[in-house]
Amino acid sequence: MTVASKETIVIKNYINGNWVEANTTNFQDVPNPATGETLASVPISSKEDVDQAVRSAKETFKTWGNTPVPKRARILFKYHELLTKNHEELAKIVTKENGKSYKEAYGEVLRGIECVEFATSAPSLMMGDSLSTIASDIDSEMFRYPVGVVGGITPFNFPMMVPCWMFPLAIACGNTFILKPSERTPILANKLAELIQEAGLPDGVLNVVHGAHDVVNGLLEHQDVKAISFVGSQPVAEYIYKTAAHYGKRVQALAGAKNHTIVMPDADLDSTVQQIINAAYGSAGERCMACSVVVAVGEIGERLVESLIQAANEIKIGDGLEEESFLGPVIRETQKQRTFSYIETGIQEGADLKRDGRKDKEINDQGYFVGPTLFDNVTPDMKIWKDEIFAPILSVVRANTLEEAINISNQSDFANGACLFTRDGGHIRTFRETIDAGMLGINLGVPAPMAFFPFSGNKSSFYGDLHVNGKDGVEFYTRKKMITSRF
Ligand code: NAD
Repeated sequence: MTVASKETIVIKNYINGNWVEANTTNFQDVPNPATGETLASVPISSKEDVDQAVRSAKETFKTWGNTPVPKRARILFKYHELLTKNHEELAKIVTKENGKSYKEAYGEVLRGIECVEFATSAPSLMMGDSLSTIASDIDSEMFRYPVGVVGGITPFNFPMMVPCWMFPLAIACGNTFILKPSERTPILANKLAELIQEAGLPDGVLNVVHGAHDVVNGLLEHQDVKAISFVGSQPVAEYIYKTAAHYGKRVQALAGAKNHTIVMPDADLDSTVQQIINAAYGSAGERCMACSVVVAVGEIGERLVESLIQAANEIKIGDGLEEESFLGPVIRETQKQRTFSYIETGIQEGADLKRDGRKDKEINDQGYFVGPTLFDNVTPDMKIWKDEIFAPILSVVRANTLEEAINISNQSDFANGACLFTRDGGHIRTFRETIDAGMLGINLGVPAPMAFFPFSGNKSSFYGDLHVNGKDGVEFYTRKKMITSRF
């Protein structure tokens, strides 16, 4: 249920430096998930809107792609300054439209700002290579160039960080960009565009087109869009990868996850519990790096489950704007109902429901709250083990050895993150060498790499070759020319 507010705004697209109405009569409400209050109305734009944005981006590319790299970087320095100045406001917008706690939102904004920081190094990052005398009197050089118009399609769960994985680096490398934010969290994207305009970015370099499938397909099919960056759920990532490739584009598509955390008997119980609680229930479990499965090895299992229940009981559920709230709502009522039905599935599959988040008292009738939920004795044949639920549900699986625990983790179709809690160096090495996941954590819960490293999953968590951020990001957003010269 959504409740209209006097402040409801109709969101506009940002094309060629102008705030324009979409060519559509189709709009969706954007509720605050903590209250149900309507924050805005988002247009479900058409392919015509995409076309306008692509025309603008293609035209602007002619000048932006030739703008000196240090000049492009200087605009990003200014952008960095403005984002930092507006850090609190940006975090409040994230909390309001996504539901995560203000503290988490503040952290997310910082992660976004760090991406801009990385992108300001474009003059160094874009350097090529050279080698003299590859044969008598012959030298070879490699130069990097932007690829052209790039499309970015982003999910609801990180309205700041995920777009910042994409457009700052893409434009620093000389590309022009069309961002299609999640229609469930569209508000922050316009604030990001507003601030980059203020930083002096020429019109048409960054465009924002709001909407859903039509905008996505418009970008995928458009012959003037040369590359697609996508982050979202697994089925959509697979579709994006295949369709973009069909239309001859380069593509990176980051997908869903089911991250396992292995706890060895020698782990420090208190800090392990604290890290797992944060990783499983922070951001209401709506993180691609959330800990959704714990594999407890040996005798620590009983104590670990008891301590997790105790810590979960102390979690403060509530509107993320209230300072003491740790666990905010999930994104929509439909997601709340989907989570409830997964809890029912877990019971029917025979897992032990140790803490039932359906029974937590909600702070109001309108918000989409689910309390921290914990299942014990989950097994890999269960649906609650296999599926990405994307909610504050933690499954505990029991194992007897590290090898068995790793084998269980590796049976998952997903391979985004995985963590190990232990004090044993040998265990750490075995884990590092044999686990399938792309981002590993040792004695910490959410091992999200910083912007100068690639953010990388494997198996069904990633479709493509080059990951976002780091040197991979630079490779993705540039094409190379080799020159071989005889003197
Ligand atoms: P989603 O797949 O529903 O939506 C992502 C984007 O794709 C949105 O912009 C949406 O409008 C668009 N979209 C959705 N369905 C589409 C379709 N059928 N055709 C064309 N476009 C479509 O994802 P979400 O629910 O917004 O985000 C959560 C998902 O994102 C989770 O699975 C999470 O694990 C994943 N995620 C992954 C990473 C990572 O780094 N691997 C990071 C963040 C989120």
